[in-house]
Amino acid sequence: MIFPIDDLQKQDTPCYYYDLGLLRRTLTILNNEIEGLPYHVHYAVKANANPILLTEIKNAGFGVDCVSGWEVQRAIENGFAPEKIVFAGVGKTDKEINYALDNDIFCFNVESLPELEVISDLAAKKGKVAKVAIRVNPNIDAHTHKYITTGLNENKFGITLDMLDDVIDRAMELQNVTFVGIHFHIGSQLTDMSPYAMLCDTINDLLRHLEERGIKPSIVNVGGGLGIDYVNPDEHEVADFANFFGIFKQRLLLREGQQLHFELGRSIVAQCGALITRVTYVKEGKAKKFAIVDAGMSDLIRPALYQAHHKIQNISNVSGDCEKYDVVGPICESSDCFGEDELLPSVKRGDLLAIRSAGAYGEIMASRYNCRPFAGVFAK
Ligand SMILES: *Cc1c(COP(=O)(O)O)cnc(C)c1O
Repeated sequence: MIFPIDDLQKQDTPCYYYDLGLLRRTLTILNNEIEGLPYHVHYAVKANANPILLTEIKNAGFGVDCVSGWEVQRAIENGFAPEKIVFAGVGKTDKEINYALDNDIFCFNVESLPELEVISDLAAKKGKVAKVAIRVNPNIDAHTHKYITTGLNENKFGITLDMLDDVIDRAMELQNVTFVGIHFHIGSQLTDMSPYAMLCDTINDLLRHLEERGIKPSIVNVGGGLGIDYVNPDEHEVADFANFFGIFKQRLLLREGQQLHFELGRSIVAQCGALITRVTYVKEGKAKKFAIVDAGMSDLIRPALYQAHHKIQNISNVSGDCEKYDVVGPICESSDCFGEDELLPSVKRGDLLAIRSAGAYGEIMASRYNCRPFAGVFAK
């Protein structure tokens, strides 16, 4: 990523910078990878719902995966066609379901039997038939942080394999829903592809089992979760889509006419974003130096919430002698820290730092903690 430093100098900080060139390159590579295959990508809006990014993603031809009625609304307001919208989530309220029904979205990814019944009832009241895919919890350990693993039995997401037959039977019985597919999402920030290989094996077994029962889902949706390189964002500015899709190409035995859906979030938008923050003070501790910056955990919560580390760069001083700093925010919480012992070209008051790979789960997870305003946005 090359920072437009003159433009950034003029911005109020903190601000999210989005490199639209990099986003477009990413989208082109992604499109090339799935061309000619029965593969469809729905971008997971929860990673970043900024209209500027949504517009690029829509223009590249992708659909969206939403996990709330408000995300469905955001997608519709930004021009996504309803037939390209899928809606997942364990706690869809009547209001959210009704909104999605009114807008004739493509499919509900259903996570429980009571939800299935409610969707059918609400659809009946409108004289509609809702398409549903059943989210299956395949009990696969994605070996990622415990807050972002989603595919284990003790997890709140989806329906366990032993209960699936009953739920599918019920879906086929109900008049106001049509069973169209099975849905999975095993976790996020997966850099080891072996859980996806295991997922393919599970799906192959499941498709065989369903076939024996005379059921052929037209859609298999394997969710998202492809990880990105937080350590070396410039060496891997586009996620390894080829490797990811390769697993499914090699290992998943799709039946004639079956479509494979993906819901990628982070891997599409993370690297095109950086949180730009200005150094307010450089404070000398006893054994440490602190670079106190004007961005905090209210702007980017991943370090505080998941012990995540984002690469930090001094973009005002790129070539000076390096020193070690703890880069900390202004918020009254010890977890408001972006990095300890960061080796940076010497930092002074007023320098701009870039906190990298912040395009996913950054701006969208911001809060107003400490009554702070939301960070601005600069996209180019
Ligand atoms: C969060 C989520 C995704 C996207 O996950 P990423 O790790 O950002 O790719 C996809 N599907 C569902 C159902 C999700 O909840």
